[in-house]
Amino acid sequence: MRSPQVQRDPGLPPRVTIYEVGARDGLQNEKTLVPASIKAEFIRRLAAAGLPVIETTSFVNPQWVPQLADAAEVLSQLGPAGVTVDRPVLVPNERGLDRALECGVQAIAIFGSATETFAQKNLGRSMAESVAMFAPVVTQARAAGLWVRAYVSMCFGDPWEGDVPVGQVVDAATSLMDLGCQELSLGDTIGVATTGHVRDVIEGLDNAGMNRDAIAVHFHDTYGQALANTLAALREGVTTVDSSAGGLGGCPYAKSATGNLATEDLVWALHGAGVSTGVDLQALVDTSVWMSRQLGRPSASRVVTALARG
Ligand code: MG
Repeated sequence: MRSPQVQRDPGLPPRVTIYEVGARDGLQNEKTLVPASIKAEFIRRLAAAGLPVIETTSFVNPQWVPQLADAAEVLSQLGPAGVTVDRPVLVPNERGLDRALECGVQAIAIFGSATETFAQKNLGRSMAESVAMFAPVVTQARAAGLWVRAYVSMCFGDPWEGDVPVGQVVDAATSLMDLGCQELSLGDTIGVATTGHVRDVIEGLDNAGMNRDAIAVHFHDTYGQALANTLAALREGVTTVDSSAGGLGGCPYAKSATGNLATEDLVWALHGAGVSTGVDLQALVDTSVWMSRQLGRPSASRVVTALARG
């Protein structure tokens, strides 16, 4: 398989942690319902390809997200390897946390919003009310020894409100992190960010006292900017990046076929720049080709398309 010629880019960190979201964020936004056994196999293959952190599923109410209604079944099929601290699950509230704890999970992710409109649409409450809802979730999770990540959606633009002030993003992120979360994931939910904007948001968080080591970025490729924005964030000292194998997952709010940054595209760029990820690109591409057959459609990843062609 072809691989990029390695020329070290000194502006990038020597090592990046990829937070793989394909099994959760990806499949949650795919129309096709995937059986639990295929999801478990997908997660096993991603782990075997060297992905260090894999978000496995979601304990959101199955009525909201029928694609992931089988969360407990997927974790049961994975066994102990599916509930380590490097296998977080999405949790929406205390009920979801209870279900996750029953499955033995050791890491969770909660999800807030940088805008009032999206908080109302996604969580059915205001930004302040959603922080109050998550407070006992984080407290209980931390008391149980769990690792907790906070996603913040619409950090770079909102489909209803338009531009989102940087200060508003900083305030939303800070209020969630102050609950006791260990990692923040900045979501560009509709994929509208550009590089200067990325730099400003990270600087704003830094100025508010947040450690850059605690910041992850989650870009969508709606306008073809996901990889450029990711590299911009890495130049600002971020070292954790969310991406989705094969680019799984459309974006329901952008009405676009292009969703998450594809993990293969990210790995190609990082390996070429001499940045280590621990990922075996060939094994990952094979996994995405296999998954695209399960879904009955080609992968959205340019790198998968190029390498699978041979
Ligand atoms: Mg996403």
